[in-house]
Amino acid sequence: MPATALPELAALERLIESAPSELGVRTACTVRAPGHGQGDDQRLPVHVLTLGNPDPAVPAVGFFGGVHGLERIGTHVLLSFMDSLLARLRWDGMLHKQLESMRLVFMPLVNPGGMLAATRCNPAGVDLMRNAPVDAIQHAPFMVGGQRFSARLPWYRGAAGGAMEAESTALCRVVEEELLSRRFSVALDCHSGFGLRDRIWFPYAHTPVPIRHLPEIHALKSLFDTTYPNHDYLFEPQSRQYLAHGDLWDHLYKGALARGNGVFLPLTLEMGSWRWVKKNPSQLFSRLGIFNPLPAHRLQRVLRSHLVWLDFLSRVGCAWQEWLPDGAARSRHHEQALTHWYPDAR
Ligand SMILES: [Zn+2]
Repeated sequence: MPATALPELAALERLIESAPSELGVRTACTVRAPGHGQGDDQRLPVHVLTLGNPDPAVPAVGFFGGVHGLERIGTHVLLSFMDSLLARLRWDGMLHKQLESMRLVFMPLVNPGGMLAATRCNPAGVDLMRNAPVDAIQHAPFMVGGQRFSARLPWYRGAAGGAMEAESTALCRVVEEELLSRRFSVALDCHSGFGLRDRIWFPYAHTPVPIRHLPEIHALKSLFDTTYPNHDYLFEPQSRQYLAHGDLWDHLYKGALARGNGVFLPLTLEMGSWRWVKKNPSQLFSRLGIFNPLPAHRLQRVLRSHLVWLDFLSRVGCAWQEWLPDGAARSRHHEQALTHWYPDAR
């Protein structure tokens, strides 16, 4: 394909080309994206990038974006974070020291076919974040929660009992190999399109029942609150907003529990795009405008505003043994988390 057909993929490949040799690069899978004419189909790579120590004994933090093709800003945020890390690799001894004791994994453009076509779903019409074999245990909202009627309608889960899509399978394999093999790991998946505020969601999406690692999530939130008291993220379980079928992170989290050998905390950054629309209502008339900040100054502000959170996560992953609660501290976090997030269950 011409390198410029998908600007985000072109930017990622430029970053790969100019990166120092420490950056590991592999292709998790390739996907076919229909071209304009017959025989014009393109094969697009889904890249995985790694930095730091590959030893499974060290912790890892994984960053994911571009699962929904319309939400380009997630990929942009990760590209800007990687640019900054790669620039620091050239002069920052502290970063080298950090990377000796941890692994960073990046999958910044999970759904290149969807992004090329400017659709939420992948080229087969499947919503990758509704594609895992997990059913909501009670009413998920009609359609938005995932549907099996037709690939021509949004939020299509794929055929019942069918294999997961290549992109979902690739993401799950990367998480299983790079994150779940460790004693501690965190994942952050970057999305946009919901609400006025930037939210950090954690599982579950398929049930309002709290996850087993609720105390650990609360401890991480508390650490962020005390380290950056002026931050403006809203932490909450996704189930507090809506239930959904087929959530990949619920599926992977359940897989991690079944393995039982470590702590895996999957988080989603849901950027509050309605605020961008509010400031610039003409964005409502653009399909991309509902999910992405369009004016250049707003894009720059969004890109720099998340760097603190992304850097925090990489450090918190590295230092997990310093803050992960146990014993009485864990019970205290559990109590506080239930009061904060699940008051009705008390
Ligand atoms: Zn999304």
